Amino acid sequence: MKIGIPKEIKNHEYRVGLTPMAVLELTHHGHDVAVETLAGDAIGFSDEQYQAAGAQILNTAADVFDWAEMIVKVKEPQAVERAMLKPEHTLFTYLHLAPDVPQTQDLIKSGAVCIAYETVTDARGQLPLLAPMSEVAGRMSVQAGAHSLEIAQGGRGLLLGGVPGVEAAKVVVIGAGVVGQNAVAMAVGTGADVVVLDKNVDVLRQLDKQYGNRIKTVYSNKEALERHVLEADLVVGAVLIPGAAAPKLVTRDMISRMKKGAVLVDVAIDQGGCFETSKATTHAEPTYIVDGVVHYCVANMPGAVARTSTMALNNATLPFVLQLANKGAKQAMADNPHLLDGLNVCRGKVTYKSVADDQNLEH
Ligand code: NAD
Repeated sequence: MKIGIPKEIKNHEYRVGLTPMAVLELTHHGHDVAVETLAGDAIGFSDEQYQAAGAQILNTAADVFDWAEMIVKVKEPQAVERAMLKPEHTLFTYLHLAPDVPQTQDLIKSGAVCIAYETVTDARGQLPLLAPMSEVAGRMSVQAGAHSLEIAQGGRGLLLGGVPGVEAAKVVVIGAGVVGQNAVAMAVGTGADVVVLDKNVDVLRQLDKQYGNRIKTVYSNKEALERHVLEADLVVGAVLIPGAAAPKLVTRDMISRMKKGAVLVDVAIDQGGCFETSKATTHAEPTYIVDGVVHYCVANMPGAVARTSTMALNNATLPFVLQLANKGAKQAMADNPHLLDGLNVCRGKVTYKSVADDQNLEH
């Protein structure tokens, strides 16, 4: 199959659909790959590396779309990219269509087969192509929080792990899913004093087994949340209620009573955020202060570590890219129901129920 990799054009997006290592796997299986020039340049993947992996380099996105049968990207196609989609194309990328009517309409019009990373499932019913970005965001949350605790950022001037003779900072992680577990791993690594709250006792049990008395696991209810948040130096918000906005677990009143210079990192900001005072920020200006408490609420945290994120994403997407390339989209999805779960728009029709329901469309 002919597989095309355009350069990402969304503002501040430096990730790329396939790494040279992934391209090598595809060419090794007999597929042809074309990459737009400089597609991976910002994160150290040069045109020469892609060529060495067997890809050809094309000058423009239009050349790539014209040539390819399958387009592999990272971000949802922007309007100029959507205009280049044809019925012969299979598109494999993050789409996040539910709130995005113009994109949905354009994908319907294109007649292409559009498979979304975020709705591909695995045998446990989880979302394997979202998990790598949650791992990145979870690990980054502690790094971002540690930086925000420095005086120059408005923080309390605390080192997470303390030093011999000086107590470590207290890190409270709310939500112990993929983000929360990765935040806990990083926080433990710094030597901080770590508390993790969740409503799912099974995940707390698993963390208790893993870390023993190195962390405290706490059932998440109003009383416990308030008590731990008020004592915290850094709070990481990592809750998710599938299909719903994040619950506002930490109220404005609680925030006004937190320690001055404490830090809130709201990873759940892409679902509206779990702190009452959260509003989305960007990497250019990641933090702001409310009631003396530093807020870090970047909606696309993995974008800041685009090289790591691209490699983590490719590890998860490549098996599916190979199935699509080896068998063609129709047969690959017929053989793999988890890949079929990714199908959002097919030949002029929305095929994903919640997208159709949200936009009052037939499916
Ligand atoms: P997940 O489903 O793996 O984990 C969510 C956890 O929250 C679950 O364990 C659940 O039991 C827990 N939870 C639900 N209600 C709770 C409550 N009241 N108190 C405590 N815990 C509660 O989800 P995830 O992959 O870890 O993602 C978490 C959030 O991070 C999501 O909103 C996701 O979209 C977001 N995210 C953001 C970025 C970013 O760049 N900002 C990147 C990746 C993921």
